[in-house]
Amino acid sequence: MNGTATIALAGNPNSGKTTLFNAITGARQRVGNYPGITVERKEGTINLDDVKINVVDLPGCYSLSAYSQEELVARKVLVDERPDIVVDIVDATRLERHLYLAVQFFELGIPVVLALNMMDEAGKQGVRIDSARLSSLLNCPVVETVARSGLGKQELMRKALDHAKQRGGIWEPLKISYGPDLDVALDHMVEKIEAARFMTNRYPARWVALKYLEADAEVLASGRTLGGPAQELEVIVQRTREHIQKTLNTVPEALIADYRYGLINSILRQNVLSHERTQEERIDVSAKLDSILTNRLLGPAIMFGVLYAMFQVTFTVGEIPMGWLESLFGWLGETATAIIPEGLVQSLVVSGIIDGVGGVMGFVPLIGIMFLMISFLEDSGYMARVAYMLDRILRIFGLHGCSAMPFIVSGGIMGGCAVPGVMATRTLRSPKEKLATLITAPFMPCGAKLPVFLLLIAAFFSENEAQIMFLITLFAWTMALLVSKLLRSTIIKGDPTPFIMELPPYRLPTLQGVLIHSWERVWQYIRKAGTVILAVSVLLWAAMTFPGLPEEAASKFAADRQAIAASAIDQEQQQALIVEIDNLEAQATLKHSVAGRIGSFFEPVSQWAGFDWRTNIALVGGFAAKEVIVSTFGTAYSLGEVDPEDSSSLSSRIAADPAWNKATALALIVFVLLYAPCFVTVVTMAKESSWRWALFSTCFNTALGFGLAVVAYQVGSLFLV
Ligand code: GDP
Ligand code: MG
Repeated sequence: MNGTATIALAGNPNSGKTTLFNAITGARQRVGNYPGITVERKEGTINLDDVKINVVDLPGCYSLSAYSQEELVARKVLVDERPDIVVDIVDATRLERHLYLAVQFFELGIPVVLALNMMDEAGKQGVRIDSARLSSLLNCPVVETVARSGLGKQELMRKALDHAKQRGGIWEPLKISYGPDLDVALDHMVEKIEAARFMTNRYPARWVALKYLEADAEVLASGRTLGGPAQELEVIVQRTREHIQKTLNTVPEALIADYRYGLINSILRQNVLSHERTQEERIDVSAKLDSILTNRLLGPAIMFGVLYAMFQVTFTVGEIPMGWLESLFGWLGETATAIIPEGLVQSLVVSGIIDGVGGVMGFVPLIGIMFLMISFLEDSGYMARVAYMLDRILRIFGLHGCSAMPFIVSGGIMGGCAVPGVMATRTLRSPKEKLATLITAPFMPCGAKLPVFLLLIAAFFSENEAQIMFLITLFAWTMALLVSKLLRSTIIKGDPTPFIMELPPYRLPTLQGVLIHSWERVWQYIRKAGTVILAVSVLLWAAMTFPGLPEEAASKFAADRQAIAASAIDQEQQQALIVEIDNLEAQATLKHSVAGRIGSFFEPVSQWAGFDWRTNIALVGGFAAKEVIVSTFGTAYSLGEVDPEDSSSLSSRIAADPAWNKATALALIVFVLLYAPCFVTVVTMAKESSWRWALFSTCFNTALGFGLAVVAYQVGSLFLV
């Protein structure tokens, strides 16, 4: 241990890990990411007795199986980095549940010190724990703590260091009996594993065998690439599985869990845990609250109320700071326009950089406010109840209770934003369910798509505005659920993860906790999205600017302007005509640009859905940000600047255009709703999953949107026109 030691903090979510980590390390923290995934890696350093201790905060997890990224990461850190000791933080008020993870550390053999956290809460609830007895039964040091006040943290660190020294890095796996059936199979497998030294450089042999019995996806996969006795092991597992099914009518995973809980219970029953039920009125507040908040009838009603309120607050309160940022970037743009001489550089700085980055930074207040409330709901324990209530419905479509929030945030009630929506998929533990949610959440009618719908409805369906809007929302949900069902039964196939997220007791969150949790998420967005977005917005600007109009064409417009300026008509009329020419020039430039050429290039195909080249440019621009669709329409229809809020003139222009009819409008609504998410969302998706999936969703959503738009146009042409 020569002067340095590594301590890994582990524990179930909500056990107080973050609070304890903060109490121990104070400001000396570093936050990073585990390579390739979005699970956060937090570390901090402290000094104790001349030893420099590196404290690693492992992701919160319920077990060391491969159900979620968090569990995989925690396991990987333990076996690859081999910390000197694991400090396992358990909630003393839910000792039985929380010891489940501890048992798995014991089975792995890594040295463990147990922190019995929330001792204040336990005291209030009348829970009595004999920690000395627990320590001797578990054969590991146990320290009582109250993370909130920092009580016990010194003792904890000291005991951890002493125990680490004493064990000297030796792993001593605990051997648990899993009953006659499994024990025989385990012994048989251990023999083969040891003989071939199969994965034993990383795990104890019995652990590998257990993971095979538990059908652990990661261990099975790496076993297959290693070869060796992998196939034999799988045969033994298969036989055992069939046998267990026949005799006990269950699966090995369940049996293994039963025996682990059995072990825990047998320990707790030896006078370790007792409940003091002196006062009748001290019935658990959480249970009381739950009887209302998760009531079969009241529960969903309250839930929709809470979600709706949250959504309202996000978008109404968020509007205020968003306005400030808008003014700030508007001012920056004006200043830049004034300082930099007219030309390409000005256009690059104003349209490319300031507008691009401004568009992205505009989301920050929304994200901040939304995460403040999500963090509050999460820390209070209510979020877990929402997921629990929605789980049964969403499960039918291959999703999970935790998918509800991303959908709602993305615009599921109308007018959200897919960027925070995609980020909200982080609460999903299973990578497959997270992926399905992530790909389908952008179908929701986000706030930027609304102006497009409003424009088209005003032009063609003004009689039933509200109904059409409602139908659009309904259609979005239907598509999201059906598509995720489709994905989950094809390319992201896999069994649903059981809803094993426990319902934590309700707690009043601390302001500091909520602020820290929100800030971490907001900062990640600013830092990560910010860099890529700058590059892409410059690229889009270039596509709509280059190549510029050829010399003759540009000089023809200039000559026209001069002719008008020299003519005898009055000042005001001149001005109007010049604006008209400016707009025509802008339109010509646009058609000539790369984006314009792309628009024209796709016209033969997009005609099937009734879209001409101008619509195509707007849609290409819409990839930058859906807000751009309406403003690009403005340019393309030579109306100059169009305020997306007041698009009445544009809508009458479109309504009068012979190229447009109800079928075209319907097809465009369908397409805008479903096609590729805007690139800010795509970047966020890539950060949350991988570029492969982000690109997949871009192509898949566009193909799906186009297919349905063609159907809408063709069918609409038959019935609507
Ligand atoms: P994590 O999910 O394990 O990181 O848990 P957090 O550190 O975020 O804590 C979850 C909640 O429990 C927060 O609201 C904390 O303020 C609260 N908490 C943490 N430790 C204690 C404690 O010892 N006593 C009490 N009463 N609350 C605690
Ligand atoms: Mg935490």
